[in-house]
Amino acid sequence: MVKVIIAEKLLKANEEIAAVNRRLLEGKGVVMVNLIGGPGAGKTTLLEKTLPLLTDKFCVAVIEGDIYTTYDAERIAKTGVEVVQINTHGACHLDAKMIGDALNQLPLDELDLIIIENVGNLVCPAEFDLGDDYKITISSVTEGMDKPAKYPLAFREAYGVVITKTDLLPYTVFNLGSYVEELFKINGNLKIFPVSALKDEGIEDWSQLIGRMIWRKRRNLTVI
Ligand code: MG
Ligand code: ZN
Repeated sequence: MVKVIIAEKLLKANEEIAAVNRRLLEGKGVVMVNLIGGPGAGKTTLLEKTLPLLTDKFCVAVIEGDIYTTYDAERIAKTGVEVVQINTHGACHLDAKMIGDALNQLPLDELDLIIIENVGNLVCPAEFDLGDDYKITISSVTEGMDKPAKYPLAFREAYGVVITKTDLLPYTVFNLGSYVEELFKINGNLKIFPVSALKDEGIEDWSQLIGRMIWRKRRNLTVI
């Protein structure tokens, strides 16, 4: 019983900080996207392929969440974008306070887009609002068909789902059509992008979605 109360307080405090982050970015016209997915879903590889398609038009930064290492941040830095590393030292998700601290280190006046790579985990990253505009869940064909049923919140809260590693479809029992049907049962509004980073398939469609997010936010700003 006591545990439940503590968890509720924790989430409430997180929501308040998330709202502060959201207001800050609203004022600067910066879009923030929160990438959620299990370890090995292909989040970093997807970013490595996506960033070069965005950086010729937009000013982009990445916030890398990782429990201990800087491996992913080093890979992302090679694409030339600014990276802020958050090491959670054991914690299995990012929270709004960590993101607030990272935002303080970024040139928000210059940026169009911040992409967060959350800690590899499909459970609590879906529960912690970071002040992002869009949550995108990354799910690979090698993880199997049962992820939406087992972790519905990560798919219900998402704006879109990127289905990665489609080049491996011939070697798995994964059925793309049935999977998409499962996703729509949980959230009928999902934007769904099957991609293969290896074969460079679907990356452009998905990066265009991000472009539209940025244009949408800019349009709202000019109205004000
Ligand atoms: Mg990664
Ligand atoms: Zn966690």
